[in-house]
Amino acid sequence: MASVSFDNVTKVFDDKSGAIVAVEELDLTIQDGEFVVFVGPSGCGKSTTLRMLAGLETVTDGEIRLAGEPVNNVSPKDRDIAMVFQDYALYPHKTVRGNMGYGLKIGTDLSDEEIERRIQEAAEMMGIEDLLDKKPNSLSGGQQQRVATGRAIVQEPEVFLFDEPLSNLDAKLRKHMRTELARLHSELEITSIYVTHDQEEAMTMADRIVILNDGTLQQVGTPKEVYYRPTNQFVADFIGSPSMNFFDVELRENDDGSGEFVCEGHFSYGISESLCENIAQNTDDDEFQIGIRPENVRVDTNASDRKTIEAPVDVVEVVGSNNFIYLDLADRETCVSTSPEIEPDEGELIDLTFDESDLHVFEKDNGAAIVHGHDETNGTPEESKVEL
Ligand code: ATP
Repeated sequence: MASVSFDNVTKVFDDKSGAIVAVEELDLTIQDGEFVVFVGPSGCGKSTTLRMLAGLETVTDGEIRLAGEPVNNVSPKDRDIAMVFQDYALYPHKTVRGNMGYGLKIGTDLSDEEIERRIQEAAEMMGIEDLLDKKPNSLSGGQQQRVATGRAIVQEPEVFLFDEPLSNLDAKLRKHMRTELARLHSELEITSIYVTHDQEEAMTMADRIVILNDGTLQQVGTPKEVYYRPTNQFVADFIGSPSMNFFDVELRENDDGSGEFVCEGHFSYGISESLCENIAQNTDDDEFQIGIRPENVRVDTNASDRKTIEAPVDVVEVVGSNNFIYLDLADRETCVSTSPEIEPDEGELIDLTFDESDLHVFEKDNGAAIVHGHDETNGTPEESKVEL
């Protein structure tokens, strides 16, 4: 096992159309044995970061260290890193056994007995003992994925890199493989970096999530930290499904110290004196973006007038365990996640409310988080994986 660190790492590609900054000044340390997931939209620099670590791309600036040792100039084969790709990259003419052992045969001086021992052990771990004499084209996608992972395991590397390894599998198998990879990690405790654009995958698998956008690091934290304390609006929007609802509001203070978030022409939502104070301690602004997650909004006809927002129903999406009610509020599509019994008609006006402890307040201009409502009530969220 080894720690991994990126010290002010930048990668610039020189393209015909000019320079493309794929990764900009990345500072990040991954501890021994950690399972870290890189997540972000397409083109944000996830794969490039992984490929630099594997030695498949050069580093333009900065330093990458493996177990404390700089590796910028170390060739990929000497980095003790095993990588699992989205397309599995199995040799079609070799058997599963041949695929799993090939890297060890050509890249090490291990005896045939040791190679066979490792293959058997990894095959057992991945539940593919019966497939060892088969060729990849007779295997399902899930089985090929297991072989590709098994091939990485036999290398007994310091670090595992996974580049969207489950993207080619159907949704059900993906969830299953997710659990298998998590189990594998808890068995082997090898430092693992996993790239995905799927935030749910990130939330369920990661010890810590690294969120990138446009080549820049947005936030590093446990799933609960990034969910409950997103550092900015980008993270708040990216993490969680359906996404957080946002509104432009002005804060108007009342004589008694409490306040109202006013979304001009649409709604007003009353907040406490302590939340007003908390905001005032962090900024002089009075215009913000506020965010509230769909799962934190309730349909409630009994809430106080100060906390009630009325809106017409646009569409009700039935997903089984929940209903997603989409509303037309403040000229934005707003989503509320409710229990399945709540099924209003299209066009019906419904009363919504939420607790101010679930509100997130962001700077209007740059989206930086100012206050999370639950800062006062919950303290630091417990550091564990989020159950989805
Ligand atoms: P995806 O999820 O779509 O794979 P990503 O987050 O992994 O995206 P990267 O593949 O790392 O993103 O790409 C980051 C940026 O670098 C993108 O703008 C991409 O077009 C650019 N890029 C990546 N590889 C090259 C290359 N070899 N030459 C030029 N530009 C590149």
